Amino acid sequence: MLFPSLENAARLLSSLPGIGSRSALRIAFHLIRSDSDKSEDLAEALIRLKKEVRFCSLCGGLSDADLCPICRDETRDRSQLCIVEEPGDVYAIEKTGEFKGLYHVLMGAISPLDGIGPGDLRISELESRIASDDRINEVLLATNPTLEGDVTADYIANALTGRNLNITRISHGVPTGAAIEYADRVTLGRSIRQRQDYRRGD
Ligand SMILES: [Zn+2]
Repeated sequence: MLFPSLENAARLLSSLPGIGSRSALRIAFHLIRSDSDKSEDLAEALIRLKKEVRFCSLCGGLSDADLCPICRDETRDRSQLCIVEEPGDVYAIEKTGEFKGLYHVLMGAISPLDGIGPGDLRISELESRIASDDRINEVLLATNPTLEGDVTADYIANALTGRNLNITRISHGVPTGAAIEYADRVTLGRSIRQRQDYRRGD
């Protein structure tokens, strides 16, 4: 029988993604052994994270205010919209320096096996964003080059047909199956520079 405080901490830790019950206990034991500063710093950091970081109301990326620094930046090219799966992808693409437009984060990709359909993603937000902003003339589909990312790109390209938009897809510099977030900067930069017109079912 565990001490209630240990049991509680382990239960909360194991509710986090990628942490099973054994890892949760290891983390709890580690914190018990460490200086009390460590637990307090961690608790404080988590409270501040939740208080100070949120999702941008326009693009869905990480932000410290209603609009993120990229959406607030008047020097960004508002004719280009780059569609990514996760907030982390924004940082990966920013690091390449190859894209100066705005972003739209889907918060995932279509994955029937995981029960994730178009309605679970920020696709309707994307459609209304495009419908209400006629400055947008290019949509760059930068979902991951995985089965799910390709299906998602295809779904969005279909949903946007009939609009006067140039729909492009990052080129295949990023290896198939790889996540954009972890692609190396040079490769990802090249795949954005060499983006191609999107052909459905490609
Ligand atoms: Zn934003």
